[in-house]
Amino acid sequence: MKIQFFGASGEVTGSCHLIEVGRYRILLDCGLIQGGYKDELRNAEEFAFDPKRIDAVVLSHSHLDHCGRIPLLVKRGFKGSVYTQKVCRDMCRVMFKDAANIYQHDAETANRKRARKHLPPIEPLYTQDDADKALKHFYGLDYGVEEEIVPGVRIRLNDAGHIIGSSMVELWLEEGKHRRKVVFSGDIGHGEAPILRQPSVIHQADVVLMESTYGGRSHKPWQESMQEMGAILMQAAQSKGNVLIPSFAVGRTQELLYLFREYFEQWNLGHWQIFLDSPMAIEATEIYSRHSELYNQKAKALALQDKTLDGLPNLRLTRSPEESMALNRISSGAIIIAGSGMCEGGRIRHHLKNHAWRRDCHILIVGFQAKGTLGRQLVDGAEQVKIWSESIRVAAQVHTVGGFSAHADQQGLVQWLGHFERSPRVFLVHGESSAQQMLQQEIQERLSIQADIAQPAQVVDLLEL
Ligand SMILES: [Zn+2]
Ligand SMILES: [Zn+2]
Repeated sequence: MKIQFFGASGEVTGSCHLIEVGRYRILLDCGLIQGGYKDELRNAEEFAFDPKRIDAVVLSHSHLDHCGRIPLLVKRGFKGSVYTQKVCRDMCRVMFKDAANIYQHDAETANRKRARKHLPPIEPLYTQDDADKALKHFYGLDYGVEEEIVPGVRIRLNDAGHIIGSSMVELWLEEGKHRRKVVFSGDIGHGEAPILRQPSVIHQADVVLMESTYGGRSHKPWQESMQEMGAILMQAAQSKGNVLIPSFAVGRTQELLYLFREYFEQWNLGHWQIFLDSPMAIEATEIYSRHSELYNQKAKALALQDKTLDGLPNLRLTRSPEESMALNRISSGAIIIAGSGMCEGGRIRHHLKNHAWRRDCHILIVGFQAKGTLGRQLVDGAEQVKIWSESIRVAAQVHTVGGFSAHADQQGLVQWLGHFERSPRVFLVHGESSAQQMLQQEIQERLSIQADIAQPAQVVDLLEL
């Protein structure tokens, strides 16, 4: 009975851990490595295990750094089932479609260049067809229901409150007379975030695999961020320009729409036209809207008044490229929400090109911006940015509202761990090493639990713990 850490150990992305029980092998997550070009090349490499010998995958949620390599796993011979929450399965369809589109498009572009140099064509990591095949392996579960996935392994999913359909996984493992219980936290939600419920609390485990993304940080209170956002929108209304909001398609976009609905009057939003300009975000929002049973009490009550997320009176969903391009003709009074969240791709780049040089334009940054991204350059106050091959002078006002996060912060993580009775063995995954070290120390001091930082390819024998 073993666990081996393959991805998101000593780093944030590429979540993937292998559990061996008797002759069965279970993967927890199978995520993409994300980051710079070089990191992402690693996704095409061989898996560190034989996909044909994996019996089942248990998937925590639909962010690509957790699920994005599953189509490749299937393409390379995985025959088993992928167990995940039902709504997560629907979200994966949206995520895979977007990823496959990008891979196919990038391969086509590269191959045109390669053809001119008489080089052989390259293959996309996976195609829409591969993604469709992978989705046939998905088996949707409800929260709170125990399921035997292979002989000797039972699982139960619990709401992680991170994005819709996200889970923390309890696993009961049995090998001969030995029994162990493992809890995999997935990504743990931010308790103050709107729409979804608080992250579940679990009381028993021998071993806990725990995320540590914000293990070294405290978030600003959510309420404070909301006030800042309201003030910026009021200020923008006076300067009469447009507001651009780069936003992640899943999670952050739905939170924004929810807040717009909740603060519609207070923020004087009736004077704006609001555009959701991202086919992917539109699809994700429709899934959120269909599943109010997964909302918290307050959001449920709003949904009961028939106020769906995409039901704002002045919200327009722009699906086609033509509709999106038509937005170029609006120079005042529009709030445009578009992806990608860090401005590295998607329609937001067109809008930035059209707006960043305008003095009356406001760019509202509401998500994390990684180093090296266009979004980060804007946050850092760049005077010039390059969008495609064009240099653009930034005259727009750039506002950063921190505090909106889909992850628990240090205190949230320690509190969550504090609910376990009898100290479990803890392995920290999904975090940069500085965050992990700070969290490790905090866990030791406040809970007297010794937490290990999972090392890449490290094997832990569960019977020796
Ligand atoms: Zn996530
Ligand atoms: Zn994650």
